[in-house]
Parts: sequence; structure tokens; C-alpha cells
Amino acid sequence: MTTTAAPATAPFRFFDVHVVRTERRSPSVVRITFGGERLADMASGGRDQRFKLFLPQPHQSRPVFDDTGDGWYTAWRAQDPAERAVMRTYTIREQRHEPEEFDVDFLLHGVDAAGHSPASGPACRWAASAGPGDRLAVLAPTVEDNGGVDFRPPTGTDWILLTGDGTALPAVAGILAWLTPGTRAKVFLEIDHEDDRQHLPGFADADLTWIVRDAAGTPGGEPVLDALRAAELPEGTPYAWIAGEAGSVKAQRRHLVQERGFDRRTVKFTGYWRRGATEEDLIAELTAAAAASASQD
Ligand SMILES: Cc1cc2nc3c(=O)[nH]c(=O)nc-3n(C[C@H](O)[C@H](O)[C@H](O)COP(=O)(O)OP(=O)(O)OC[C@H]3O[C@@H](n4cnc5c(N)ncnc54)[C@H](O)[C@@H]3O)c2cc1C
Repeated sequence: MTTTAAPATAPFRFFDVHVVRTERRSPSVVRITFGGERLADMASGGRDQRFKLFLPQPHQSRPVFDDTGDGWYTAWRAQDPAERAVMRTYTIREQRHEPEEFDVDFLLHGVDAAGHSPASGPACRWAASAGPGDRLAVLAPTVEDNGGVDFRPPTGTDWILLTGDGTALPAVAGILAWLTPGTRAKVFLEIDHEDDRQHLPGFADADLTWIVRDAAGTPGGEPVLDALRAAELPEGTPYAWIAGEAGSVKAQRRHLVQERGFDRRTVKFTGYWRRGATEEDLIAELTAAAAASASQD
């Protein structure tokens, strides 16, 4: 399963960007529009295009970071964790030209109605209080066909299954906007509040099910898995794209492969976050696993 491994730099590059505007789109989502001098060189592949965000620490006004080209990851890891830029993974919700801008939809997890965020993380806290002119750096693609796009249905696919929570909603929106007219799609989206529903434009023949966590009434439960279990799925060859909390994503994949008979090669599943773990924790796990596997070679 893909989680948050450091991407290869090429065809990605660092861009200095600043906040152009922010817009509270719904109770749980703030959309931040970024601009920057060299953004004409950025090229989103659309769909679920991922990129890396480098945020300042709370006591800094801009991220402390050296763009060392291909050696950036080693250089970043060697920096003092209390001073180096905080790295997080997000989705390019939409890129536009003239003016050169792109949008990112941040889910405000762990932020209460009064704006307090005791259970949140640095990216979410940053997004909740960001304003025009705030600066950060991003590692983003420079060609549309790049390794940061996972949604790649093979030839012969008859219909698409998409499932996600609020962190995956920007990717699902990008995928629906990309699908060719008439493509059959069955979509399950888990949101925190009724008002977190979004209009998701596109030409696909999409059957959308919104699952509101409050209304689902299953604290600690698996509302998307339950909805999937109960769903009548179309005939034909499917391609599934699943993202959200890592444990939930694994359970959904298991259901599709073991109980529904999906070919495992046609199920793309990605943990966008894991309950109780920060992105640093996930990077540390991946690094330790890579070191252990290298020592066995
Ligand atoms: C490929 C990819 C694309 C992504 N795209 C987006 C995107 O477009 N928009 C978006 O909002 N997120 C997106 N995410 C998810 C985002 O990277 C994580 O939610 C990230 O952990 C947020 O960083 P943080 O600093 O706020 O929290 P962290 O410091 O990483 O975590 C702090 C605590 O918050 C918990 N936590 C993290 N996320 C959530 C959550 N959603 N709900 C409840 N608790 C949570 C963690 O388990 C941890 O206990 C994406 C992730 C991946 C891998």
C-alpha cells in the first residue's frame, strides 16, 4: 500500500509559494489558493495528483529548508526536527493559469467549533489560521505524466468504484472531473457534517452516496465498509480506487478482494492518514522498513 514515502524529485521540483486567498468551503474544509513566481512550470496531472507541502514551524514565518535537488530528502532528515520544515502530503485540487494558481482543500480534523485544535496536527493548524501572504514551499510535478498520480484504470475497465473520506474528497473530485463522459462510477464518500457535501462536476455517469459520520451513528465503526457491504455493485470489470484512514482502507480492500472477488491488481488503495500516527511516524516506519530490507540484501 502506498502511504507517504518520499517521492523521487524528478519530474518534481521545489516551488516557493504564498497564500493568495483562503475560503471556508464547509464546516470541515478550508480551501487555500496558492500563487508563486515560477508556477507556470508546475504541471498537475489532475485526478489524485499528490504533492509535498513544506510548512514553517509555529515560531517561524517561512519554512527552513535547503533545496539541494536530488539530495533534498537526506538533507531534510539531517536537519533539527524542531527547526526543519514540516513535510506533509496533499492533493492538488485544481491548477489554473493566467493567473498561475492552484487550490488545496484542507480537512480541518480535530478543530472544534471555537477554532481550538488540541487533537490536530501542524498542517491542519497552519491551514486553519493561514492568511494572504503566508509563505511555504512545495515539491510539485513539472510534467503532467508523473508518478504522483495513482488513478490509472487499465484498458478494459467497465466501471469505476471510488471510496474516500474528507482527506480523499479533493482526489475524488479530480478523478470525477477527469473521467470521460458516460463512464459508470459508483462513489462512496464519508464526511463529518451534512454541510460538507460538495458539488462534484463531471461528465461520468456517477452514482454518489454521501455518508455523514454523525448520522451514521457508529462511533469507531466503519461506515464506508458497511455501505460497501450493503451495496449492489454493477456487472462488468471494475477498477477500484480507495483512500482514507489506513485501517479502513485495508478493510475495504479485503472486502473487495476476498468477498466480492475483485482482482487485487485492479484495486488501488492508499492510506491517506493513520489513526494515532503523525506523518513523521509513518515516514519513520517506512525508513526503518527500508533499512531493515537493505540489511537483509
Ligand atoms: C497522497 C495523499 C493525499 C492527501 N491529500 C489530502 C488533501 O488534499 N486534503 C487533506 O485534508 N488531507 C490530505 N491527505 C491527508 C493528510 O496528509 C493527513 O491528514 C495529515 O496527517 C495531516 O497532517 P497534520 O499535520 O494535520 O496531522 P499529523 O501531524 O500528521 O497528525 C496528527 C494527529 O492527527 C491525526 N489525523 C491526521 N489526519 C486525520 C484526519 N483526517 N482525521 C482525524 N485525525 C487525523 C493523526 O492520526 C495524528 O494522531 C493526503 C494524504 C496523502 C497520503
